[in-house]
Amino acid sequence: MKKTYALARCVMENLTDARRLAMCIVHITDQCNAGCAYCYTTRARRAREERAALLSTEEYRLIAQKIGRVTQLVIGGGEPFLRDDIAAIRKSFYQFAGVRIVSIATNGSLGRRALEVMNELVAACPRAVINLEISLDAAGAEHDRLRNFPGLFAVAGELAQAVCAGRRRLPSVNLVINTVITSQSDESLRRLREYLGQQLGADNFFHNIQFDHRRECIPPEEIGRYAQKKQLLCAGTRAVRSGIVARCIRQGYVDAIQRILIEQRRRQAPVYRCNAGTKLCVLTADGRLSPCEPFLFEGIFPDFQAVNLREHFYDVRAGFAAAAYRRALGFIRSRKCRQCYWSCAAITSLLYDPRNWPCLISALRPKKSKRTTHEVHGVVCK
Ligand code: SF4
Ligand code: SF4
Repeated sequence: MKKTYALARCVMENLTDARRLAMCIVHITDQCNAGCAYCYTTRARRAREERAALLSTEEYRLIAQKIGRVTQLVIGGGEPFLRDDIAAIRKSFYQFAGVRIVSIATNGSLGRRALEVMNELVAACPRAVINLEISLDAAGAEHDRLRNFPGLFAVAGELAQAVCAGRRRLPSVNLVINTVITSQSDESLRRLREYLGQQLGADNFFHNIQFDHRRECIPPEEIGRYAQKKQLLCAGTRAVRSGIVARCIRQGYVDAIQRILIEQRRRQAPVYRCNAGTKLCVLTADGRLSPCEPFLFEGIFPDFQAVNLREHFYDVRAGFAAAAYRRALGFIRSRKCRQCYWSCAAITSLLYDPRNWPCLISALRPKKSKRTTHEVHGVVCK
């Protein structure tokens, strides 16, 4: 109930404070010890080679001091636990921006380090909820192959088990298992579900199964087939979870977002009003500001130029006012984005903007169709 209340408070804060950022995503490094074929980190690293160094601890502190209020901070990378100052960065945003939810996405390879940081954060940020998101795409050696990292499944699984075992000491830490479905995912997904149920216990984690919508991962015409596969995969665990109200709300919401993204792919046009750029933003490891990840890595806005925060005194609000950033906002407002798959923008835009609620409500109650069981009907927000 406490976590449900926290979500309601986040919605109220964003409805009543137009300047508040619902989500700020900071890629604190573009280095990683894994080598996933579909990762954009490699592209980011290549782009940085002619550019500046990574932002320092002190630079993050300046950004946190000037950014204003932020509801949720997402710390990603690269592999974020490769940075020694991850806890210090997190604490700056907690102290100065009032962040109350933080999500840390990790490949799970640095288990001991991750646990140390979790313990430190729970002690230093007592009023914050921390989502530790561990990526597991398949079971055993298949996961290691997909991530190009021998032995990764074993160490990531150990980290997940250690978080479950330490739930009393880490009550504010939610364990999330992130599974990305690509065209290479198959039978191993079912084995992964069995493994997680047996090793972690169905009530101890939230399983976030997402599609990789990028064309090279799942072609648009194949999405429906994968959506059905996911539905079958999830059916077995729903009954176990049915008594847990908050979890069901969260699962229903995540499923609705998936339906909307699939519909968006099918229509090749936006079906909700995207608030990227105003309610959420992305900061690359070398200090470039963007409304969203698809602009940075997918070329959805071909003329896009990220704003260098170092040239704007680490002030995100000044970055928002820069000419290049305003051009990007104009592109978004004219609803020219095509093929957007990015769930972070969908999650914040649909939850915190009442103009998108009809779309969300419709997606929460999908109608069956011949085309795909995940289709959403008549939900385009004008
Ligand atoms: S673990 Fe994550 S950051 Fe590292 S290569 Fe894979 S997708 Fe990229
Ligand atoms: S619709 Fe997608 S690509 Fe366009 S601004 Fe929003 S998140 Fe970015």
